[in-house]
Amino acid sequence: MTLDKMIEKAYHLICGRRVEQIEEGVYNVVGEHGTYTVMRDLSGSVTCNCPGFASRKKCSHSLAVIMINNPDLLRRIERELRREERGLKSKR
Ligand SMILES: [Zn+2]
Repeated sequence: MTLDKMIEKAYHLICGRRVEQIEEGVYNVVGEHGTYTVMRDLSGSVTCNCPGFASRKKCSHSLAVIMINNPDLLRRIERELRREERGLKSKR
């Protein structure tokens, strides 16, 4: 999966309210293939217990948690994705 696709997936996890904070720095993320736990430490680095994170050190779940904690980034991604959607529509 490309990083773009991963960001898009992360954004949809947030929109679908599939990211839930259960305690300080601990999040439950309901992904397509299961529910995963994302941990965020004080420095802002995140880890996820899904297989994708184990092999690639990044995944849509951990990205979603990063985005939720960074409203500016979330807004920027939102704008970017909307622009892309419009672009696709006008090509049809
Ligand atoms: Zn994950």
